[in-house]
Amino acid sequence: MKCKNAGRGTLFVVTGPSGAGKGTVLGRTLPAIDGIHYSISATTRNPRPGEMDGKSYYFVTHEQFLAMIERGALLEYAEYVGNYYGTPAAAVDAELDAGRDVVLEIEVQGALMVQQKRPEAVLIFIIPPDFSLLEQRLHSRGSEPDDVIARRLEKARSEYQSGNRYDYIVVNGDLDEAVRELTSIIIAQRCRTEKRIDLLR
Ligand code: 5GP
Repeated sequence: MKCKNAGRGTLFVVTGPSGAGKGTVLGRTLPAIDGIHYSISATTRNPRPGEMDGKSYYFVTHEQFLAMIERGALLEYAEYVGNYYGTPAAAVDAELDAGRDVVLEIEVQGALMVQQKRPEAVLIFIIPPDFSLLEQRLHSRGSEPDDVIARRLEKARSEYQSGNRYDYIVVNGDLDEAVRELTSIIIAQRCRTEKRIDLLR
């Protein structure tokens, strides 16, 4: 899908509780949109089966992560259920400067940090139609023990409380509908007057 994107790209921050299906919705949405870059995060968590270094995440040690924080190399970072996650800033800015949009898929604490640092960022909260579905989805993923799932759910409850800070809420019940909603938000942003004002000159 093509839509001219003048000047600097837009920073989209896709957030929401673990189990809401952020990755699934993005995985279906992004390949159909031109000129959009998915930011790869750094994390100290262990790779899950099938995850590849440099593709799913940059898997780093605790020490390497702390060094990145010290160097100021991260746009945002958060500790989440016992591990660190963060967004390398340089790649994000290079893409935005080149006029491409960038998508961060991150948890809420980090999303709110980005909102403070980059108030122009567009925050999108993805939720399931019903909170109880989160628990079902986390269990059916089968990759984590019950106590980790319980902590992810507790975290999700607190994430819902920041609800009024987001620009958009996408409901992921029917996947096709969620993909349509997210695509519409990205395309609408590209059609904003400030992005197209040059066309009127
Ligand atoms: P998971 O362990 O399931 O891959 O990720 C746990 C949570 O961390 C998810 O909500 C995911 O979106 C979030 N996350 C992934 N990368 C980042 C990041 O760079 N920064 C922050 N703040 N959260 C992240």
